[in-house]
Amino acid sequence: MFNQGDRILLAVSGGKDSSVLWRLLTEQGYKVDGIYLDLGIEEGFYSQRSKEYAQQLAQNLGKDLIVFDLKRETGRSISELKQRSQRKSCSLCGKLKRYFLNKIAREQGYQCLATGHNLDDETAALLQSTLRWQPHYLARQAPVLEERDEGFVRKVKPLVRFTEKEMALFAFLNQIPYQEDECSYATGAASLFLKGILNQMEERSPGTKISFYQEFLRIKTVFRKESPPPPTRCSLCGMPTIAEICSTCKILASVS
Ligand SMILES: [Zn+2]
Repeated sequence: MFNQGDRILLAVSGGKDSSVLWRLLTEQGYKVDGIYLDLGIEEGFYSQRSKEYAQQLAQNLGKDLIVFDLKRETGRSISELKQRSQRKSCSLCGKLKRYFLNKIAREQGYQCLATGHNLDDETAALLQSTLRWQPHYLARQAPVLEERDEGFVRKVKPLVRFTEKEMALFAFLNQIPYQEDECSYATGAASLFLKGILNQMEERSPGTKISFYQEFLRIKTVFRKESPPPPTRCSLCGMPTIAEICSTCKILASVS
């Protein structure tokens, strides 16, 4: 995924997975900085409290935390964008997060961008793409996405073989405080529903999740031919896109 000398940017959310990952990578001597994307979710002071967990961890580890404030940087808040967008909340936030994390990692010269996705996240995404037979999503889902000349930094997910429960246990046993609340915008999200179903299957047949995921990785090359055309550059921001204007610029333009 990365070498000892690589500069790694880790997306830190204040939740258990990225918190545990930051600590593990730091303890193992990797050069890893954290970035917190403050989307400004006000319900339950969610973003504020999550940021405080991230800042506290940075202090404990003796690391710097980059804070990207959506409202300050773009002039738009997530609630304004949410009102105008046709997308569901998790899809909108995910789109914005992927865009800005990639952009900042590239601009600041990091060799790779790490995220705390775990086995539950990956199998829920895999189940969703399989149920809809979305070959372009299946082709793109991987623990490592290589850097691409079109403007994508290398992306890695070191925790993909660990379950959510394992990460929670690790955080508990190692006394790593984290944001335990679920984002209020995520209520009713398909990913949470699918995670619940996968947990029921796992309980009935232990090993379901890991075999679903590992066997997918083994056969996933069959989806490669179905990949979408290579991206060009957005005419507004210069980031990679398959349209003339990228979806993030379109989302931001919806609120002026
Ligand atoms: Zn753009």
